[in-house]
Formats: sequence, structure tokens, C-alpha cells
Amino acid sequence: MQTLTFDPVISSEKEAALRLKVRRFLQQYGDFPTADLIDSWTICDADFSKALAEQGWIGMTWPEQYGGGGCSYLERYVVIEELLAAGAPVGAHWVADRQSGPLLLRFGTQSQREFFLPQIIKGECFFAIGMSEPNSGSDLASIKTSAKRVDGGWLVNGAKTWTSWAHACHYMITLCRTAPVSDNRHAGLSQLIIDLSADGVTIRPIKNLAGDEHFNEIFFDNVFVPDEQVAGTVNDGWNQVMAELAFERSGPERFLSSYQLLEASIGELRQTKPDARAMSVIGQFVAKLMVLRQMSLSVASQLQDGKLPVNEASVVKDLGTSFEQDLPEAMRLILSVEPRSTTNNGVARLLSDAILKAPSFSLRGGTREILRGILARGLGLR
Ligand SMILES: Cc1cc2nc3c(=O)[nH]c(=O)nc-3n(C[C@H](O)[C@H](O)[C@H](O)COP(=O)(O)OP(=O)(O)OC[C@H]3O[C@@H](n4cnc5c(N)ncnc54)[C@H](O)[C@@H]3O)c2cc1C
Repeated sequence: MQTLTFDPVISSEKEAALRLKVRRFLQQYGDFPTADLIDSWTICDADFSKALAEQGWIGMTWPEQYGGGGCSYLERYVVIEELLAAGAPVGAHWVADRQSGPLLLRFGTQSQREFFLPQIIKGECFFAIGMSEPNSGSDLASIKTSAKRVDGGWLVNGAKTWTSWAHACHYMITLCRTAPVSDNRHAGLSQLIIDLSADGVTIRPIKNLAGDEHFNEIFFDNVFVPDEQVAGTVNDGWNQVMAELAFERSGPERFLSSYQLLEASIGELRQTKPDARAMSVIGQFVAKLMVLRQMSLSVASQLQDGKLPVNEASVVKDLGTSFEQDLPEAMRLILSVEPRSTTNNGVARLLSDAILKAPSFSLRGGTREILRGILARGLGLR
């Protein structure tokens, strides 16, 4: 039987020193606003991204020739884990750093790398993910947005939806159909780098359950994309997207979205002499958190070794998002505080935000059922 690899990873002294450096850096910011602490990797603050860039914490693992840090995936893990645990607003550069840059490094042309990577590393160029469409989410191969060949490039028509931060991003790597559907429905797809300020692009916000406008629908009306902005190989977009999703699914953002609530709940319980049930619930969540950290670190170490641990990443996302999704309800049951969205302070606000945002945790980046399908295939069960 096929097995999953989660070899233990022990932090080096270099990584421990880096962790302290990130903590010291964060001290200058004090506490981030309570309203931004839950799911802080969706909070966009271009100035904060720029400050991280100045520390060399964007594009950390990328080659030095583009301005990258040439660091290991484990060093990157340390930095992003500390930022997320502190509730830092890392949303602006998140997608570009986590997946668009790595995608261009793997599949892009030399001139694309030279043009985009230094700008991303400086915290000046943000990317969105253009996969989902109004009638295509889990069944991504059914997308209808088309790119038709024209002189010097492609003409794009169609619509994308749920696109996080498209209104604040410069570019979007957009999955388009570039050849008619055939027996192999995964064939004929390509990824195009679309300039979101181009003629024919319309971006409209969608309000989420918490009342925020962080994601959007996007319409393309005869948008011209030059040949130089095809990412990777024409009609091989499916394989590229699958590689991109492996980067997207295993990081600590997949279990730390509601971490600030756990920390605040422990703080609140310390003051009120918790009963045995409350202590047991906290103990269970802390234990699960420690296991998830090790699993995610292990995936980072496999990425470092040049592997593509798709199945392991699916397990981390499935278990991790269950953890961060179950946390708000578990805390609500053991705290004596009621969730309140009208206050800007304290655990009541964190509880309210976490309850409203948690349903999305297991949807974005591939739903639980889809991940389990991938895993079943990986284990030879389907
Ligand atoms: C907060 C948030 C941010 C997002 N940001 C982006 C973004 O930036 N870019 C982007 O492209 N997309 C984004 N998405 C979209 C996300 O990727 C999709 O919502 C997700 O892939 C599911 O697609 P869907 O919403 O169409 O649901 P559907 O595919 O319609 O699924 C509905 C339900 O049916 C289940 N289901 C579907 N197919 C199967 C199957 N074969 N077997 C078993 N069960 C199945 C699903 O698991 C789910 O429970 C975002 C979503 C959220 C919530």
C-alpha cells in the first residue's frame, strides 16, 4: 500500500534565531487591531508587506539572482508561522509569495521571472488566483472562461468568482480554456497572467458572511493578453494548476486562521479558574495544534527536497481546516463570554469573527470532500 510521509523535523539553531528575529520585528507593531486578527492572512496591508520585504521575508526561498533570499522552506515556515500566530496582516503579498512566484519559477519564462519576481520580492506586486468560476469550483476542469488565439496573443472572455483581493492586486494567473473540450477534459487549459487594470476587466466585490468585501467576481470582455504573458505551456495548464495547489494546501495558514482566539481564550480562562471540562478542551486543541505543526513542517521539508507532496498537503489541509473550523464553537461552549461583532476589543469580538469566518476555511483552496478524493486516489483506492 502507498504510504504518507511525515518524517519529523527538528528546528536548527539558525531557525530558532530567525524565530526570535521575527518576534522582535513584530514587537514594534504592538498588538494588531482585534478586528483583523482572525484569518489575518486575508487582511491586506501594502505598507506591512513592504516592511516585510525590507526584512527579506517575501520570496525567501527564491534564488538570489532575482533578489530572493535563497533560504530554506523551513526558514520560510518559521517566518510565516510567527506572522500568522501574531495575527499580522500578510494578505497583500500572500498569494504572490506562496504560489504565483513559485509557479513562475517552475513554469514561467526567463523574462517573466526577471520581470515579476523582483517586484514581488520588493512587496510591490500582488497576485490573485483566477481559478473558480460561477459554475466551476470543485470541478475545475469544467471552466468556461476562454482565451482565443489572435495576432500576438489571446483574447479572453468569461468570468471568475470568489477571487480574493482581486481589487487590490496587480495581476491574476488565470486558468482559461484555450482548446475545445475533448475526451481528456483536463487538456486544452492554459494559465494566462492577466493585468487586472487592462481594458475589458471588471471587478465587483462580494460581501462575505462577516460583512467584509475581501473576494470578488471578475468579468473579462475581450481582454487582450500578449503571448509573453502566457504562464508555462499552452494547453498544459491543468498540470501546472495541480502543482500550484500543492504549494497552497500545506502551510500553517491552514490551521492558524483562528489561532488568536485560542490564545485569547486561554488568557480569559486563566482569570476565571476554568473547570475540568474547559481545561480538557483546551488541552485537546493545543495537542492537535502541536501535531499539525509537525505535519506542516514535514511537508515544508519535503518541498525543500524538491518533492511535490500532494497527498500529504491534502491531509494537512483537511485536518488543519477542521481544527481551525472546530475551534470557535468549542471555545464558545467553554467561555462565559458571548460573541459580539459590535465591540472592537477582546475575546467577544474574536469569537464573533471566528464563528462568521470559519465556514469558509474548509472551502477555499479545495473542499474537504475534494481533498479526501485526492487522498483516496493517492492511496490507490480509486
Ligand atoms: C474565502 C474564500 C476565498 C476564495 N478565494 C478564491 C480565489 O482567490 N480564487 C479562486 O479561484 N477561488 C477562490 N475561492 C473559491 C474556492 O476555491 C471554491 O469555493 C471551492 O473550490 C469550492 O467550489 P464551489 O464554491 O463552486 O463549490 P462546489 O464545487 O459547488 O461544491 C459544493 C459542495 O459539493 C461538494 N462536492 C463538489 N464536488 C464533489 C465531488 N466530486 N465529490 C464529493 N463532494 C463534492 C463540495 O465539497 C462542497 O461541499 C475562495 C473561496 C472562499 C470560501
